Amino acid sequence: MIKLKISLIVTMGMILFSCNNPVDKSETQDNSFDFFVEQFADIRILRYHVPEFEKLTLKQKELLYYLSQAALCGRDIFFDQNGKYNLAIRRVLENIYKTYSGDRTAEDFKNFEVYLKRVWFSNGIYHHYSTDKFLPGISTDYFMHLVQHSDSSGFPLKAGQQPGNLMQELIPVMFDAEVMPKKVCQDTDKDIVAGSAVNFYHNVSQQEVEQFYEKMKNPEDPRPVSYGLNSKVVKEDGKVKEIIWKEDGMYTEAIEKIIFWLGKSLAVAETPEQASVIQKLISYYKTGNLKTWDEYNVLWVNDLNSHIDFVNGFIETYDDPLGLKATWEAVVNFKDLKATHRTEVLSSNAQWFEDNSPVAGEYKKSEVKGVTAKVITVAQLGGACYPATPIGINLPNADWIRKEHGSKSVTMENITYAYDQANQKTGMLEEFASGEEEIEHVKKYGFLAGNLHVDLHECLGHGSGQLKPGVASDALKNYMAPLEETRADLFALYYIMDEKMVDLGLLPNLEVAKAEYMNYIRNGLMTQLTRIQPGKDIEQAHMRNRQLISKWCMEKGKADNVIEKITRDGKTYFRINNFEKLRSLFGELLREVQRIKSEGDYQAGKDLVETYGVKVDRELHREVLERYEKLNLAPYSGFLNPEITAVEKDGTIIDVTISYPDNYAEQMMFYSDNYSYLPDYN
Ligand code: ZN
Repeated sequence: MIKLKISLIVTMGMILFSCNNPVDKSETQDNSFDFFVEQFADIRILRYHVPEFEKLTLKQKELLYYLSQAALCGRDIFFDQNGKYNLAIRRVLENIYKTYSGDRTAEDFKNFEVYLKRVWFSNGIYHHYSTDKFLPGISTDYFMHLVQHSDSSGFPLKAGQQPGNLMQELIPVMFDAEVMPKKVCQDTDKDIVAGSAVNFYHNVSQQEVEQFYEKMKNPEDPRPVSYGLNSKVVKEDGKVKEIIWKEDGMYTEAIEKIIFWLGKSLAVAETPEQASVIQKLISYYKTGNLKTWDEYNVLWVNDLNSHIDFVNGFIETYDDPLGLKATWEAVVNFKDLKATHRTEVLSSNAQWFEDNSPVAGEYKKSEVKGVTAKVITVAQLGGACYPATPIGINLPNADWIRKEHGSKSVTMENITYAYDQANQKTGMLEEFASGEEEIEHVKKYGFLAGNLHVDLHECLGHGSGQLKPGVASDALKNYMAPLEETRADLFALYYIMDEKMVDLGLLPNLEVAKAEYMNYIRNGLMTQLTRIQPGKDIEQAHMRNRQLISKWCMEKGKADNVIEKITRDGKTYFRINNFEKLRSLFGELLREVQRIKSEGDYQAGKDLVETYGVKVDRELHREVLERYEKLNLAPYSGFLNPEITAVEKDGTIIDVTISYPDNYAEQMMFYSDNYSYLPDYN
């Protein structure tokens, strides 16, 4: 639930002023660095820079190197989780890409390449964001032509199988929009387990899975493990059972490699605390024991002094229709000391924010524990974080650990900076902002405002509030994710315009907050629709949350004309007329959403999401897509990784270097050639 994806498809502009806390990136970033790599389909590939890498000690760099290797070793796991044919399909496509002997300049071949690039980007054949299957854009005849003119020994064939038979099996999966159409089905009128192509379940119904886990749960347990987090559920001989993702279990071939590199990193851990974190993670991967996973998370969340840190494991449950099973991901990073000061200020005042929020007293935490936050520099991304990348992370996810030990919250500022730089020249803001004043304002304050929003969302928003005793943490079921994001966003939106921000030295003035309101409302009501196909509704949790907030405020503020819909030259714009009033609406909605979460009020949560967050205004959508198309931009972005390389002499690492590849296909093929460990089917 706790991951913040980039939300604003806008030109945010440079910071034209400086105050104490925001980091002046010109000091740490290489101005000649080119952030843009390439664009295809609806995807834009960018790169990120790793400032200050050179200043790390050799030992620290060595640690980064090992952790980065561990981050790359789980790539196949995420492919396989996203659909059981994904690895076989990727290997077929890559073999064609490598060995096809026909005309590689043909239009059809270009379309084939785009399809492969999309498969790489989404880690499978389902769109990374909408979760719909995307189709190859070539005919099956042409596909078979490619197969016939490629090296047949390179295809992932079962014993005795001919390429033709394999393709017969894969063609419906790839080309037929009706066959396994969605990775994650959210249509609650259906069996959402049977309707989802995600490879978490086999031969079981939603009801069978729910009963299976219901039996395991003990409602009295104050510290429940995350049931079902690291396993596939199957039915064999009429019996429902779990297959655990662990060493000697499912995915063992990749997990062994992850364990190997984590083992290497032990020797260069920065502190004994960090070493015990890594040791615990290894024993979790060896046993698959979810109690060990919780112990690991407790150690991890308490390890605050390490300069280098990482995420590695089965973490987020967005891709499971039931919200139980976690996709594999990895992030390797180190602390951005200067920018971290900003989040430390927020964290050390966490109790003030909790006490002064508009939430009902009984649903506030009387003692906010260990809300730690830092700004990090990302050095490597893996699994579900690559190439599409979050811009902030708040972990662990287990409610009881968050309550007793707090959570670690990070903002990935070298990623947001790369977005900002790449967005400078898109023309998006100029097209959709309500007027010159808004453009100026956002250009001036947008980057700082965006960063602060992320900080507030991650450090304070997710960590705030408490459940009413006896309410299950999964009571909101499929509405949990959008409502949780709504809650964290509202917390951020409410407080970014608080005088306290200025008092704490985080903002030079509250004008900055207005830039965030402008960006948020414009995105929630209009520009995020560029990510939706004509005729479709909104499914992704963060997008539902953003429209929910924006539409609710638009409606509730109608009498006071808080947000005004303007039509000029046949184009729609939204202008905020009353920022103070808008802020109080954010507060009002925050109070209600916290109540819904605290009481587990499923019906109210459902009504809120379905009424405001799901349905798309078709007429406006058409207009937005038309205006957007003229800008020739891609709505989604992802990042290439830098390459971290160990230089060895006589078996000892004498240096670790970093370089910045700028060829997307090359990096993907490099990973497939060097970090692919799983069988074709798992
Ligand atoms: Zn979040």
